[in-house]
Amino acid sequence: MAQGVWTIAEQRDGEIRKISYELVSEGRRLADALGQELTVVLLGSNIKDKAAAFGPYGANKVMVADDSRLEPYTTDAYVSVISQLVKANEPAVLLLGASVQGKDLAGRLAARLDVAMAQDCTVFAIEGGTLVATRPIYAGKAYAKVTFENSWPQMATARPKVMSVNEPDPSKSAEVMDAAFTLDDADLKTKVMDVVKDESGKVDLTEADKIVSGGRGMKGPENYYILEALADVIGASVGASRSAVDAGWRPHSDQVGQTGKVVSPNLYVACGISGAIQHLAGMSTSKVIVAINKDADAPIFQKADYGVVGDLFDVVPALTEEAKKYV
Ligand SMILES: Cc1cc2nc3c(=O)[nH]c(=O)nc-3n(C[C@H](O)[C@H](O)[C@H](O)COP(=O)(O)OP(=O)(O)OC[C@H]3O[C@@H](n4cnc5c(N)ncnc54)[C@H](O)[C@@H]3O)c2cc1C
Repeated sequence: MAQGVWTIAEQRDGEIRKISYELVSEGRRLADALGQELTVVLLGSNIKDKAAAFGPYGANKVMVADDSRLEPYTTDAYVSVISQLVKANEPAVLLLGASVQGKDLAGRLAARLDVAMAQDCTVFAIEGGTLVATRPIYAGKAYAKVTFENSWPQMATARPKVMSVNEPDPSKSAEVMDAAFTLDDADLKTKVMDVVKDESGKVDLTEADKIVSGGRGMKGPENYYILEALADVIGASVGASRSAVDAGWRPHSDQVGQTGKVVSPNLYVACGISGAIQHLAGMSTSKVIVAINKDADAPIFQKADYGVVGDLFDVVPALTEEAKKYV
């Protein structure tokens, strides 16, 4: 009988990513609802000293898979290790992040385990002892509740920055254990030759707490300094619509939307963005949405919590000046 909730931690260069804490916090809530244990699975090289971080967030156990071939991440090595651990231990629920790495891993892992998988979920609940996952469909126009029939573990990915993180309790600790697995070099078909790092120092949009985004209404790349000035004052990252990216004004890594990044910051400021459904698909789960658009009928206003009908070239600098008074 499958037992327990597992979350797959994510780390890069030995640093635990925020999504890992969101997963462990949500995993704790689900494990409590099931009356079962929560185990975090941590993979990497020389990573064991990071395992203790999860106890205060609610993990009962941390299973560490430490091997030089698990750094940097490759799909085949991670899938091989996690599938062995899942088969040997049979957790009831398996959660990963719907990050770039998590989405890549979850798809292949579900295929290897031959189980169903719900991608990019925004709510989880336990009903009648089983997992019910809610996920946006039709680019965020509707939400589907999915359950898993005769498919174990019940496997899903969680959209980053949607699940709340538990207040860490330093008095709590998790049992840290070594994972039992084998890695055969012949199975590792991918070899990472080089890792090119983003040296800009910018917070990745998927992890940003605040985002100021600009669309075609920015009129050209030279005008983004207006958004960067506001972003600097309020501590935000700068994003863009696909129109701005397609025009070559911003790099693709800045694109928010269906074919860009899915973000859920606490604050999303959309400047000169009409609010096409493909854009909304990437930002509609933001906690507070502010729209600045000169067209009062722009669809973005239907999603916005606060809207300013006006010329962004007047409104954004005025907002920046106002924001300076509060920092
Ligand atoms: C398969 C597919 C995938 C897609 N994926 C994405 C995606 O991932 N992300 C994405 O963003 N789009 C995506 N799109 C494109 C999407 O349909 C829209 O074309 C795009 O989002 C529009 O970008 P925009 O809002 O910047 O431009 P527009 O729709 O042209 O809107 C510009 C807005 O700026 C306003 N404006 C102009 N000047 C000013 C000013 N001075 N002050 C204030 N407001 C002003 C206008 O009133 C207008 O509302 C996708 C489309 C398809 C078909």
